Amino acid sequence: MKTLLKNGVLVDKTSTLNHKTVSVLIEDGRISEVSEDISEAGYSVIDLNGAFVSAGWIDMHVHCFNEAWDEGISPDRVGVESGVTMLVDAGSSGADNVEEFFEKSATHKTKIRAMLNISRLGLTTLHELRKIEDIDVERAIGMAEAYPDFIVGFKLRASASVMGDDFDNPFLLARKIQTKVKKPLMVHVGNFPPSLDDVLGYLEKGDIVTHCYNGKPNGIISDGLIRESVLKARERGVLFDVGHGTSSYSHSVARNSKALGFYPDTAGTDIYRKNVGGPVYSLAHTMSKLMSLGYTMDECIAMNTVNAASALRLDSYGSVKPGKVADLSVFRKIVRESIILDSEGEEINLNEQIVPVAVVIDGEWKETIYGNEEHIH
Ligand SMILES: [Zn+2]
Repeated sequence: MKTLLKNGVLVDKTSTLNHKTVSVLIEDGRISEVSEDISEAGYSVIDLNGAFVSAGWIDMHVHCFNEAWDEGISPDRVGVESGVTMLVDAGSSGADNVEEFFEKSATHKTKIRAMLNISRLGLTTLHELRKIEDIDVERAIGMAEAYPDFIVGFKLRASASVMGDDFDNPFLLARKIQTKVKKPLMVHVGNFPPSLDDVLGYLEKGDIVTHCYNGKPNGIISDGLIRESVLKARERGVLFDVGHGTSSYSHSVARNSKALGFYPDTAGTDIYRKNVGGPVYSLAHTMSKLMSLGYTMDECIAMNTVNAASALRLDSYGSVKPGKVADLSVFRKIVRESIILDSEGEEINLNEQIVPVAVVIDGEWKETIYGNEEHIH
């Protein structure tokens, strides 16, 4: 089956055709050609009518496994129906239940990957690191080796409510797992204790800090400056993810960080049932919030395509080039005044919004729930 998408404006900062109106030829679930001029003969043609097209959006931080945590959301609702082709569930599953999660994941249209909780419990108790014996290093490694495509990294929630008062051993054991499997460790930061400085002290190149713009006292800005420990972590290659969530995105921290020259690497949502109706809404809304701070659309799209694929070490994803998996997001940028909230209740005035129209996933076209709104032109 060969499909040709035509009249799409490419958004891919890694491509020489960036911002050009292109055709994308898809064969057997892979991109075979991207060009300003491909003959239509013999292909099934989809006309994008001037909409933007990028690599499929990847949401680095969601919760979509409600057997472990009943706040988990239906994957397709925040996935393909919202313009997102890949969801990374951040720690809902652990070694005890990841096999069940893997099997369920195959029943959805959206691609799902897991950051395996270093606790075998996943999020079943919400204080998964209280007992050190629940971090079973060998079983976690075993699961990662048994499901090498599905498990893309590991998750550790660094909060006293999760860890009890042992702030050291979970990091040491996580590092043992991570060193063996060589996939990124994502760490949730929030309330003190532990201090952000202490948490960052454990992190190395390729690790990911999520909730980087939380508005809690233990945040990345201290005395009007980006903390020294944060700058040092970035220097050695630690990555920073937005991880919006119910209580982890302060628009004012994001604004001040931008003014201080500190930008996020990726813009995951931490979306689940309780926050999909606000303040998170969708990955597109999270990107639109960043655009209201002055990030360009291209920068926001790069965060959730090329940057996300690179953070997850998924070489076949993240850009629109021959040989890559044919996962694409099709979207428009509309001018529309609206006010939405951050996690602290601050009102954010949006002038422009990214609106997902459709996705192509493994070469197959699917419209989103936003695509047919009459005000999209
Ligand atoms: Zn989360």
